[in-house]
Amino acid sequence: MGTICNISLDEGSSESIYTGAFNLLSDIDTNLSRTKEGSLIYTLNKEGHVTIENDDYFNLIVRSFELAQTTEGAFDPSIGKAVALWGIGTEDERIPSQEELDAVNDDYTQVVIDTEKHTITIPKGMEVDLGAIGKGYATDKLIAYFAENGVTRGIINLGGNVYVIGSKDEGTPWKIGLQKPFDQRGDSFVLLSLSDTAVVTSGAYERYFEKDGTIYCHILDPKTLYPAQTDIQSSTIIGPDATLCDALSTTCFILGKEKALALLDTAFPEVSALFLLSDNSIATTPQFPYAYQEIAP
Ligand code: ADP
Ligand code: MG
Repeated sequence: MGTICNISLDEGSSESIYTGAFNLLSDIDTNLSRTKEGSLIYTLNKEGHVTIENDDYFNLIVRSFELAQTTEGAFDPSIGKAVALWGIGTEDERIPSQEELDAVNDDYTQVVIDTEKHTITIPKGMEVDLGAIGKGYATDKLIAYFAENGVTRGIINLGGNVYVIGSKDEGTPWKIGLQKPFDQRGDSFVLLSLSDTAVVTSGAYERYFEKDGTIYCHILDPKTLYPAQTDIQSSTIIGPDATLCDALSTTCFILGKEKALALLDTAFPEVSALFLLSDNSIATTPQFPYAYQEIAP
């Protein structure tokens, strides 16, 4: 998944549970990666068409395109061609020419999904990329697997997609630090007290390159196909559904504070959000239900 995946479970969890978990992650990566030859997404992008037998993978793609609609294209799973041109986080990262970007088709409304035949068809010039939702989906799969195997306590972290299972101790929630952008790994600006929930953070600092003093990050604004730049430095979404939290943390980062809060208020009242703004202040959704502690710089 191009990131570090960390799983810590209650003492006494067997080695085979960990092995099962990493096999599950590897299976998801093999099927959903944009770059791994033979994956469902690789095939779709190469052939323009794919049949997906597996209900879960098919439904994830359907859901991704529904979210594109709800977010009016801010969350854009058809942005893969632009992601490939920028190549951020790869050896080929560079600023693409406007001509190259103009040739990208990321009009997600042109994607044809046949729910009877389980087929997806995309037009020329388009590639699908599930990078902004895939780790959330993987988290939800892990949580279901752990529940089946009787795990009652633990923390999962798939590159910023965190899920806390149970509480730290009875009555004491887990404390989750949110990474200070561009600071040393592990330095937090806030500690959140949480139990049994997903908490997903997106930010420019996760993957970027710097050229002539400008930072180019891996989250692209579908309107310009350039790295998103708003008043949000880091966008955290908290809620029961890790897949949704992942998609929304990316979306809110792109939209900026005002539009993000308006979207969450009208379309996603089931999640809470905490944004670190460019002036280093914190904004949250109204009636933010979790205790948090700011850490002085
Ligand atoms: P991270 O991978 O750091 O957790 P995100 O969940 O925010 O970050 O996903 C970023 C990835 O999503 C990018 O690396 C790219 O593959 C893809 N992506 C970039 N821009 C968009 C967008 N506007 N909509 C959907 N996916 C995007
Ligand atoms: Mg995301």
